[in-house]
Amino acid sequence: MKKDFYEILGISKSATPEEIKKAYRKKAIEFHPDKNPGNKEAEEKFKEAAEAYEVLSDANKKAKYDQYGHQAFDGGGYGGGQHMNMDDIFSQFGDIFGSAFGGGGFSGFGGGGGQRRVKGSNLRIKVKLTLEEIANGVEKKVKVKRKVQAKGVTYRTCPTCNGSGQIMKIANTILGRMQTAATCHICSGSGQILDQKPAGADAQGMLLEDDTVSIKIPAGVVDGMQLKVANKGNEAPGSNSIPGDLIVAIEEIEHEFLKREGENLHYDLYISFPEAALGVSKEIDTVSGKVRIKLEEGIQSGKILRLKGKGIPSINSYGNGDLLVHVNVWTPKTLNKEQKQFFEKMLTDENFIPKPEKSDKSFFEKVKDMFS
Ligand SMILES: [Zn+2]
Repeated sequence: MKKDFYEILGISKSATPEEIKKAYRKKAIEFHPDKNPGNKEAEEKFKEAAEAYEVLSDANKKAKYDQYGHQAFDGGGYGGGQHMNMDDIFSQFGDIFGSAFGGGGFSGFGGGGGQRRVKGSNLRIKVKLTLEEIANGVEKKVKVKRKVQAKGVTYRTCPTCNGSGQIMKIANTILGRMQTAATCHICSGSGQILDQKPAGADAQGMLLEDDTVSIKIPAGVVDGMQLKVANKGNEAPGSNSIPGDLIVAIEEIEHEFLKREGENLHYDLYISFPEAALGVSKEIDTVSGKVRIKLEEGIQSGKILRLKGKGIPSINSYGNGDLLVHVNVWTPKTLNKEQKQFFEKMLTDENFIPKPEKSDKSFFEKVKDMFS
């Protein structure tokens, strides 16, 4: 069970961006690996805090988290746990602690090595899903073109930075001469440069390759939601690098008959005047196939039938929404002579005079009920 991000940082849901930053800074200092060498528990807490901050400091991600919880990011099955590595975390420090720790200054952090693991860039794709796929969850195979290291490519230590990934610069400032670290421009911080590459590979030993990635999409996703498939983005050069991620944006294909509203679905059912008077059984579409429903004789136009649990599952798996069937009685637009005579006779018939009862709630009361 993943801990609540607000709990991790020890703040309330109403915390301001400044308070979130302050809370994270406190945790980051407390659990910093340099302060707690070899302490696995501290490292875990350090990562947790960084992950919480990564989400809560971003207005978009925060809004998604507030609405959908952890599921908004790990898309159910994959990724799941800690998806930030130490480099991600340290690269965040620039805006938390100021430039003193930013800009490639990783050497003081991370305990050992000091070399930065270069991460490949992320790939982004869109996946179109039908409402049925969204309701039931689906596994999609998508084709992507990703950069991979060519077979047989070798890398060697960068001579410019001696493999540290950074070069020191002396700058004259109002505070005096200051030594700052900058990312090595030859190896882009990886500490390695290309040694040998096979024919066809680019200057960094990379090839563009077609790949098929299988994505498990959990039930209940929402249009615009982004899922992350870890390590399925572009690879980066170097023996020490890690691939980027594949970011999957969900696009919902509009259903012909069903309208989605959060977890509830709406269906407009049209019945004829005689069907309303006599009662009728009708087949309607749901996300799990067709369903037959029975309408009692004398059903009123505007009546809403609620099919419990026939909506969309909650992304947090707290049950399903409902399917709301709106009954519309179709009034004929033209009548022939006989029909006209029939209805003219009915004008004064006791049975045809509207006598709404308390149970025939008005449209506005029903709408009020639906949202309460
Ligand atoms: Zn270098």
